[in-house]
Amino acid sequence: MEKSLHEQTISGQGGELIPRIGGAIAENERAGNFGFSSMTKAKRILVVDDEPGIQQSLAMLLGFDGHQVQVAGSGEEALEKFQPGAYDLVMTDFSMAGMKGDELASALKKLEPQIPVLLLTAFPPPVKPPSVDLLMTKPFYVASLREAISKLCPS
Ligand SMILES: [Mg+2]
Repeated sequence: MEKSLHEQTISGQGGELIPRIGGAIAENERAGNFGFSSMTKAKRILVVDDEPGIQQSLAMLLGFDGHQVQVAGSGEEALEKFQPGAYDLVMTDFSMAGMKGDELASALKKLEPQIPVLLLTAFPPPVKPPSVDLLMTKPFYVASLREAISKLCPS
């Protein structure tokens, strides 16, 4: 039997990325708020992950909230796509072949010191890397992702 939207989970290597998506939806519904309007304004977000499924899931979720999303499959590709002023936020996986998420963050900050970087990882390092503004552990709730965006991009 096919699972309803409220039961579906998004999985990736290293465990579930975003479980109980329906939890966040139900919360909003209870509040009579079906959208994201109270959360944050639309942002230009670069999503970096070496797992295409996670890339696409994040792009879809963020797209539903009205954000403009571009994706990159590696730190190297992200650096090619990145231009100072082109994004409001970069969301990156930590564990990737080649350049790791914290190394990407350092490289991005050299190009644009103010760019907020959110690091997503199933295996968080004991200390937040200094190049990263916020660290989120997978799995996480959609509500937590929205909260992180509001925190990192308050305007
Ligand atoms: Mg990865």
